Amino acid sequence: MTKLHDQGLLKNSSYWHGEWHRSNTHFNITNPASGEVIAKVADASAADAEQAVAAAHAAFADWAARPAAERSQLLMRWQQLLLDHQDDLGLLLTLEQGKPLAEAKGEIAYGASYLQWFAEEAKRVYGDTIPAKAANQRIMVLKQPVGVVAAITPWNFPNAMIARKAAAALAAGCTFVVKPAQLTPLSALALAELAHRAGIPAGVFNVIAGTDAAAIGEVLTQDARVAKFSFTGSTNIGKQLAKQCAGTVKRVSLELGGNAPFIVFADADLDAAVDGLMASKFRNAGQTCVCTNRVLVQQSVIAAFTEKLQQAISKLKIGDGTRDNVDIGPLISEDACAKVDKLLQAALKQGAKLHCGGKRQSADSLFYLPTLLSDITAEMDITQQEIFGPVVALQSFSEEAEAIARANATEFGLAAYFYSRDIGRIWRVAEGLQYGMVGINEGLISNPAAPFGGVKQSGYGREGSKYGLADYLDTKYLCLGGLDR
Ligand code: NAP
Repeated sequence: MTKLHDQGLLKNSSYWHGEWHRSNTHFNITNPASGEVIAKVADASAADAEQAVAAAHAAFADWAARPAAERSQLLMRWQQLLLDHQDDLGLLLTLEQGKPLAEAKGEIAYGASYLQWFAEEAKRVYGDTIPAKAANQRIMVLKQPVGVVAAITPWNFPNAMIARKAAAALAAGCTFVVKPAQLTPLSALALAELAHRAGIPAGVFNVIAGTDAAAIGEVLTQDARVAKFSFTGSTNIGKQLAKQCAGTVKRVSLELGGNAPFIVFADADLDAAVDGLMASKFRNAGQTCVCTNRVLVQQSVIAAFTEKLQQAISKLKIGDGTRDNVDIGPLISEDACAKVDKLLQAALKQGAKLHCGGKRQSADSLFYLPTLLSDITAEMDITQQEIFGPVVALQSFSEEAEAIARANATEFGLAAYFYSRDIGRIWRVAEGLQYGMVGINEGLISNPAAPFGGVKQSGYGREGSKYGLADYLDTKYLCLGGLDR
């Protein structure tokens, strides 16, 4: 594997109670661009997960009792270390996940931005006083950390999905245990190394890297010492984990799958819409939960839009993410490639038209060519399922109301996008879309100041912003009486 400037960031075992823990068995981490094994990581077990929970539980009282300013300072130190090591962390992320280096470094900066945001917010956890009914009473409201937080995260943002949960949890005064995806644990372990260097106390931030997701997941969702569970991943697994949490009535946040519509109205700036779609569709080779999945273009502009789009797609450079100027890396796995191909072949059989791409770069690689399809219909699987690959699927519509109805015709409700310059339409469509997040003349909308999250079967809870912090706080009501005696 390419040498990091700081080899100490390449860790190969789980971290809890401020220490690295070995295991008798190991699993391979593979570079999806080359198939090369880049690391072997100790395979943590359910028993290890229990120990990590115990460590987080033991550390909670001290961490929660520290002044917010002190927690804030430690988070700031952690974020600075992420930025100081952005090149190494980016490279590690590209090697295990595949996204182009510039995007990977962008993810490190994005993850760090959550640490910074919540370090600042930690100092602004305000309570409340409420006028009491009786003259001899006072009503006060305290905000307190919920306790130990457990999290499970996916492979598509190996740094940022963890950083944005941990930042809010630690800022609120909670302690944290995370199980990263088994395909991409190296970024999570590097985060633990930097937390250690930043001086985050033992037991406050813990990482369990292992392959038995179900068994580790059972501990994290069923251990009564865990007060809150936060999951980012697929809707099916999220539903199952939420059920597992019910037995101990945990607070649960779910950031699940999406099926984002991208609507282009005839009055839109078409060049801006193409730019927005390229950003929203092709980031991480189309493997993000907020990636555009369905593109709805008003009939009168679909020909012009398709031509501009095809030109933009033809400029994309596909290749190993560590090479210069690459826009699109490999998909994460053979299964991911096969799924994209299956959706595409089925759409073609049902009448879709292929403009470019439509296959892997070579039969044995995980590089899927940027693809443009048109004549897509609402019934096709490619419309109803998350594509999670670099495939644009265009359909046309005639009326505004039809576009809104079709955009909403899904069980998902994470992100939606639309382009229009008509202010009346902007309000009607923004209010009519049943989504947690709506990009209006914007294709990239995620940032730490804003509440990220979905509605319907895309989940509940928010990450980022003051709403994200509230998810890690309990509200306690104090009634102070007897003031007249
Ligand atoms: P996934 O299969 O649900 O895996 C996500 C995480 O869950 C991984 O850590 C995985 O562990 C773990 N897991 C799998 N089965 C489990 C079980 N039975 N018990 C406990 N944990 C289990 O999802 P994915 O394919 O990796 O990620 C892609 C999905 O995530 C997409 O649907 C995407 O839209 C969604 N996503 C949502 C957001 C959001 O914010 N809404 C952000 C990013 C991604 P292993 O890796 O060990 O299998």
